[in-house]
Amino acid sequence: MTYSFNPDTVSVPSGHHIGGKFVELPGEEIVVLRPSDEKPMGVITDGGLGSVEMSVASAKKALAETGWATMVPRERAKILFRFAEKIEEKAEYLGRLEAMGSARLVSGTIIGDAVRTAGVVRYFAEFCDKVEGTVTATRENTLSYTKREAYGIAGAIVPWNFPMITAAWKFAPALAAGNAVVMKTSEITPHSLLALAECAAEAGLPGGLFNVVNGYGHTTGAEIVRHPDIGIISFTGSTQTGEAIMKLAAESGIKPVILELGGKSPQIVTKNCGDMDMIATRVANNFMVNGGQVCTLASRLLIEESIADELTEKVLERTQDIKAGPTWDETTTFAPIISAKQFDRIDNMVQETIAQGAEVLTGAGRLDSVNEGNFYAPTMLTNVSRDNIGFLGEFFGPIVTVSRFANLDEAIAEAQHPVYGLAASVHTLDMQEAMRVADKVEAGMVFVNQHGRDPEFTYTAGGFKASGFGKDMGRAGFEAFTREKAVWINYA
Ligand code: NAD
Repeated sequence: MTYSFNPDTVSVPSGHHIGGKFVELPGEEIVVLRPSDEKPMGVITDGGLGSVEMSVASAKKALAETGWATMVPRERAKILFRFAEKIEEKAEYLGRLEAMGSARLVSGTIIGDAVRTAGVVRYFAEFCDKVEGTVTATRENTLSYTKREAYGIAGAIVPWNFPMITAAWKFAPALAAGNAVVMKTSEITPHSLLALAECAAEAGLPGGLFNVVNGYGHTTGAEIVRHPDIGIISFTGSTQTGEAIMKLAAESGIKPVILELGGKSPQIVTKNCGDMDMIATRVANNFMVNGGQVCTLASRLLIEESIADELTEKVLERTQDIKAGPTWDETTTFAPIISAKQFDRIDNMVQETIAQGAEVLTGAGRLDSVNEGNFYAPTMLTNVSRDNIGFLGEFFGPIVTVSRFANLDEAIAEAQHPVYGLAASVHTLDMQEAMRVADKVEAGMVFVNQHGRDPEFTYTAGGFKASGFGKDMGRAGFEAFTREKAVWINYA
């Protein structure tokens, strides 16, 4: 199969998707650019309160008319299975849309994003009739039990780095648990999620159960968090926005929030890591993938002293062995930065890191080999002290800081981050080393001999500390969209 395509031939959805159809609403216009060449691919409007009110009204009507939360669970599952099939049917289109509008490469978007999104929907559909409660110990003639119920309307807000998958981690469990959803796309990458909402409608999901609105965070996003009829908020994005959302949720009537936030994840390589060429390729991919725009990115490389020179040299070689280019060209291996604004933010932070004492091993500026788009050169920095901004903050680009350690205790101490605790990895064939890192490093996800998960759905994703709380995916990701009710019956 040939994946490359001409981006000018792909149709782009227009409007908000509310009540099962596209709706045009007034609001400030936002021109959406293709990150590969910065050409406009569509215009959305900032829906604001109007779009949220319309979505909530539509959600309430749909919940009342369809009995979505209380229908025979298998019936709910059946509809979601049809939704998953529709996504697969349109995977090529969805994958192209994703590649056009985000930094995801078309070599991966059809299978890795679109078909995987269908998998997420199917995974959670399977939970519909597997919701269980408990019967607890009581005195005689009483029954005490717990049951899980949907919240009603769930609100969700997502970022731009994996637009479809990150959204599916939220809308799929929320719907499967019996909620209606009001969701905001990222204003930078709205189109693929709008197309997913269209798939849901085409598959027969009753209109109003899955509403997708467009707009800025401080306007439309904030209205979702504030809305009194939205019972829970699930958010993925930066730690800074997570803080704002917690405050808003507290100020507007107290509602639970699930926060998947930023990270500054270490990858530790010990002298027992095995084949050095293989490790170098793995380690380099772990910070260059998706142009470095991954929340769990292995952005701190910690190498054991005795192999540090050799491994650093090999990783440096890998940073030169890339093909930057348009996301719609299947031969491209290195992705652009999502926007000029984000490019400037990254570069300013790299220059500040250098000003604060870091040494450049490679990169630290624009990639010269491409004329269009915002391509940041794979960058390796060393001598980055723990009080340097380059250690404390998230670059969210293809940048790694490199340090050395004398023994595993030192590596574990260095791996702990004062702010973030999203992910960590260790590369070693020594089981004791692997288990010590898994036990000791403060992170919500720890990987051994890889950094990142396989494309399975059974893991839970989520961080510690300022990387957030609550989980996406897995059983915990489903249960997050239910609330537990305790019932006490006296039948004496
Ligand atoms: P962001 O926080 O700027 O925006 C995320 C979303 O929040 C967008 O839709 C935005 O419009 C909205 N938003 C912004 N301000 C808001 C407000 N006041 N109220 C309500 N909504 C608001 O993040 P981004 O730049 O889109 O994404 C990059 C960040 O996301 C990185 O920090 C990355 O680590 C994080 N991320 C985390 C995970 C995870 O699972 N932990 C996954 C992907 C990305």
